Amino acid sequence: MTASFSTQAVINALQTVLPSGDGLIPLHEPCITGNEWTYVKECLDTGWVSSVGKFVDRFEEDLAAYTGVKRAIAVVNGTAALHICLLLADVKPGDEVLMPALTFIATANAVSYCGAIPHFIDSEEATLGVDSSKLNIYLEEIAEHRTDGCYNRLTGRRIKAIVPMHTFGHPVDLDPLVEVCQRFDITLIEDAAESLGSLYKGRHTGQWGLLSALSFNGNKTITTGGGGAILTNDEELGRLAKHITTTAKVPHRWEFNHDMVGYNYRMPNINAAIGCAQLEQLPGFLAAKRDLAERYHQAFTGIPGIRFFSEPANSRSNYWLNTLLLDEECAGQRNALLEATNDTGVMTRPAWTLMHKLPMFTGCPKMDLSVAESFEQRLLNIPSSVILGTGLNHA
Ligand SMILES: *Cc1c(COP(=O)(O)O)cnc(C)c1O
Repeated sequence: MTASFSTQAVINALQTVLPSGDGLIPLHEPCITGNEWTYVKECLDTGWVSSVGKFVDRFEEDLAAYTGVKRAIAVVNGTAALHICLLLADVKPGDEVLMPALTFIATANAVSYCGAIPHFIDSEEATLGVDSSKLNIYLEEIAEHRTDGCYNRLTGRRIKAIVPMHTFGHPVDLDPLVEVCQRFDITLIEDAAESLGSLYKGRHTGQWGLLSALSFNGNKTITTGGGGAILTNDEELGRLAKHITTTAKVPHRWEFNHDMVGYNYRMPNINAAIGCAQLEQLPGFLAAKRDLAERYHQAFTGIPGIRFFSEPANSRSNYWLNTLLLDEECAGQRNALLEATNDTGVMTRPAWTLMHKLPMFTGCPKMDLSVAESFEQRLLNIPSSVILGTGLNHA
């Protein structure tokens, strides 16, 4: 007999961790408890509300210092950050870009904006991110070295880049992935939108890619309302990223000259002001989120058929979205669990629909995706806001 859980046991476990009350407990709400008002007021009082101002510069400097990269460039959102990462990595129309099938739509959209084609790869149980050993075997079958890079023998298209994503904040196993990239001459770009504060082998995620993208959407670990950033250790790419996201204007006291097609992707000063205040609080946010994750972990220990997903070995996760993983035999209970938890005011949700199932991407190349397909049926995100981990709600 296979072990399975009762829906009530899961609800009981959630209730030992979560506050009781009438309202709905959201999945992830922002925590605005620092200098946000002060800094935003300063923007409004001084009139520095828009595309230049001291908070943009400060936010970029603080982000670079925190994540340990040479340059951080603040932009309007994480999708725009990914778009520019891909452009600067020389992804061209008609190229293929490897990415997990299990990701948020932004990863695939950004590739499409470049005229490139997403090529979907499978995930692994240990990290919920891309499986580099499975990828290695796959590339040995389909990839071919040519003078200008790696080609897909089946489609004849160049495989220019790979965009791993640190799912729900849990770092991908980056070292073996870097080896695969070097072996096949594929550029690494990290979608670190979910992993601000997550470390792999003691270093912040986003340091392995040639370029990496962060997001500060309202539901992320810290927020700027909407926003994103490009990270890079390459000074020249950092300079270019700033230039191309600020309309590629050639600096001059009065002349308007632009030396390439640029983008108006810069983050407004008001949003950067919120970001500076949020970043000041990040260590406290991360501690609260770890506390919450630890209490979830304890609450779900001993319930058969379901487990709390803990950070991978070698990693320190930000636990952006806490995750329950059902055993394969229990996958059939997932929908009943979604319904019962949402009915009791505890917001839960399944993972994203896999990218290759969406109408715009059904024709895209893909490898065997059996692990991602299984995750799609077995994953459940549970409330993860900072406020739930501060200790204020403890009995
Ligand atoms: C949030 C997120 C992004 C960026 O989203 P924006 O809303 O554009 O900031 C990109 N990739 C992943 C995986 C995300 O979760």
